[in-house]
Amino acid sequence: MHFSRIGISKLCFLLSLAFCAFLLLLIPSLQPTRWRSKLPQPQPQPRSRTIGGRGGASGRRQYHSVVLHLPLRNPRMGNTTGVLADGTQTAKGAAAPASSLAVGGAVTTGKHNTPLPLNIGAPQAGLPGSPPREQLELTDIFIAVKTTKKYHKSRLELLFQTWISQAKEQTFIFTDGEDKELRRKAGENMINTNCSATHTRQALCCKMSVEYDKFIESQKKWFCHMDDDNYVILPSLLKLLSSYSHTQDVYLGRPSLDHPIEAAERVKGDGSVSVKFWFATGGAGFCISRGLALKMSPWASLGNFISTAEKIRLPDDCTVGYIIEALLEVSMTHSLLFHSHLENLRRLPSDSVLRQVTLSYGGYENGRNVVSIGGAFSLAEDPSRFKTVHCHLYPQTGWCPAKKHP
Ligand code: UDP
Ligand code: MN
Repeated sequence: MHFSRIGISKLCFLLSLAFCAFLLLLIPSLQPTRWRSKLPQPQPQPRSRTIGGRGGASGRRQYHSVVLHLPLRNPRMGNTTGVLADGTQTAKGAAAPASSLAVGGAVTTGKHNTPLPLNIGAPQAGLPGSPPREQLELTDIFIAVKTTKKYHKSRLELLFQTWISQAKEQTFIFTDGEDKELRRKAGENMINTNCSATHTRQALCCKMSVEYDKFIESQKKWFCHMDDDNYVILPSLLKLLSSYSHTQDVYLGRPSLDHPIEAAERVKGDGSVSVKFWFATGGAGFCISRGLALKMSPWASLGNFISTAEKIRLPDDCTVGYIIEALLEVSMTHSLLFHSHLENLRRLPSDSVLRQVTLSYGGYENGRNVVSIGGAFSLAEDPSRFKTVHCHLYPQTGWCPAKKHP
């Protein structure tokens, strides 16, 4: 074989180029780990993966449910035309196992092939020892309580007597009728939505639409929606939200189904496409960061929420999930710290009750569905257990019985 001198020097030149390129590739891995650890670390995101978007014939995503053993029934669907993914429903009061209720974890969902263990993909929200992400104060949270005139006395009074008394400035009551007594107590924080006083999808979405607009106006960092049969454990709420950043996209709550809901989304023309998404059940309360709420604006602000709900013909809480998961492609963070009376509240271990974020009460049909907690008041004196919880949290409250000294 014969190589000319020019050919050999060309070959040498190419070889040295290749060697230099190889050295350049090696440089990052040659750095000492100590040096690398000083580089800014990416902030852990509150979700592991983004899902959502429109399901369609070609673009249908695969969803894998987190195994939460939650009640499958969603009575909030009422007589809507939304279709549950598999139609499976269980009797009212179907229970979550105590083990899952006791965990203070949060999980996110996505296109995972295996069920997610609790806490994967989310900051260690609510876990002891987790560092707070931001200095959050109670006044940074906008708490919306949805109610209706007929419950002002029977439900709201209890809330004013208990947790709202500790969060008066930032709690806003969204109702449907004037009430002098409520106005005296809540002042400007009572908002008469002028929505209809019925339990229809339209009336509920009308209230949610006003809640959203008032939150945006408020400049607060977090929006939390509650029903008027929720007790909010304010220190737990503050702790949970502190482990996220309000500028990130965060949608926190408890799913009422153990799988994403499947709905028929009306599209232009006469057709509809199937869309699947998770949503946080309104009856357990849920929270949305300001960053995410601002992104919801095209579908939620100034009455747009009502037309968005009409597109899927589902209630207010489902519509929130639809906007966030399906339209914005942001995953809901599932938290077991939120509780509605759709679950068996008696299963919640007594020693974990005060660490939850929300509680509820209900169901007189199958016996009372309330948290098991002993203390200041008997079941007859405090059927919802809210007063008892309140006295454990704020023992100095005037009407709480003074602690007996031995
Ligand atoms: N609600 C309402 N208008 C009504 C009936 C109920 O705004 O006509 C509110 C009620 O105040 C509560 C929420 O909707 O905050 C859920 O109502 P409820 O607890 O009676 O029903 P659930 O869906 O929890 O079984
Ligand atoms: Mn309820």
